[in-house]
Amino acid sequence: MKILANDGISDLGKDLLEKAGFTVITEKVPQEELATAVNQQGIEMVLVRSATTVRKEVIDACPGLKLIGRGGVGMDNIDVAYAREKGITVINTPASSSQSVAELVMGHMFAISRFLHDSYKNMEAGDFSTLKKNFGKGVELRGKTLGIIGFGRIGQSLASYALGCGMNVIAVDRNTDAKMISIPLGNNSQAEISIAPVSALDHVLIEMDYISIHVPKQADGSAVITAKEFAGMKKGVRIVNAARGGVINEDDLLEALNTGKVAAVALDVFENEPNPRKDLLNHPKIACTPHIGAATNEAQDRIGEELANLIIGEFALK
Ligand code: NAD
Repeated sequence: MKILANDGISDLGKDLLEKAGFTVITEKVPQEELATAVNQQGIEMVLVRSATTVRKEVIDACPGLKLIGRGGVGMDNIDVAYAREKGITVINTPASSSQSVAELVMGHMFAISRFLHDSYKNMEAGDFSTLKKNFGKGVELRGKTLGIIGFGRIGQSLASYALGCGMNVIAVDRNTDAKMISIPLGNNSQAEISIAPVSALDHVLIEMDYISIHVPKQADGSAVITAKEFAGMKKGVRIVNAARGGVINEDDLLEALNTGKVAAVALDVFENEPNPRKDLLNHPKIACTPHIGAATNEAQDRIGEELANLIIGEFALK
């Protein structure tokens, strides 16, 4: 069986699949040529990350398709229900990337606390003393309060890192069941702390020095953070979005930055990917990364291995 891994697959995942007898094609096919390539090359499985979309039109145009695999969590780039109606197996790897997204968020929180993103951009051209003055009013994470909105796999992984750094954590989720967060401390030691999320975001916003959002794209496409939520936040709050573009309203975000309500923001995801608006990318108080939350070697290995094992388990003996 032929598998097209259109957004790539780790060597580990590719090897496992090839050893099980599958042919794995990793040469990227442009989105508009996907259906033609699938049909012409007799491809029965398409694996994607977040770049390639597999919508109804592609599914209808490819009657030979047996499986769509998403390396990662959110499946908003696949018409999942429609594919399953048509008898196509749809799989993803929800747990593989939580730690790498959490580490990116920690990196962003440190960066926007010490102006690292802006310093990197300006060191070469700028005057040293002026830059030293401009970037000299950093803040520390330890002792600050982090609000984690969406306390699922990634939210809980982030809590583990933040608690380990000495931050206080407030979790917000529709599901208010307490979660036991384990904090690996190195040297084979670890701590455990129970955190019970609250459901009413507006009651706790004012307590947060940092906010990181980990909800999925909302079913109705609505933003979770809009002007109303910005109004309820503490002045000088720092915010990270490594969930999905659109969960923060980008117009309202710029307004909150420009009034000084929000001190700094880090974005890994954007409403208009892959062409985010320039006023976000160029803003001195915004640190940006190009949707790389899950893009660590370790996560890609875990994702490739998990996808390969799911496919082998489902199809190898058929
Ligand atoms: P998850 O399903 O484990 O957790 C999501 C949590 O959000 C759930 O507990 C849910 O109850 C809660 N939630 C949903 N809507 C809410 C709302 N309006 N208010 C409060 N809580 C709400 O998902 P996860 O594995 O933690 O991943 C979260 C999201 O992160 C994914 O859906 C995906 O969009 C994104 N993600 C981004 C990257 C990246 O590269 N930046 C990588 C992986 C995942």
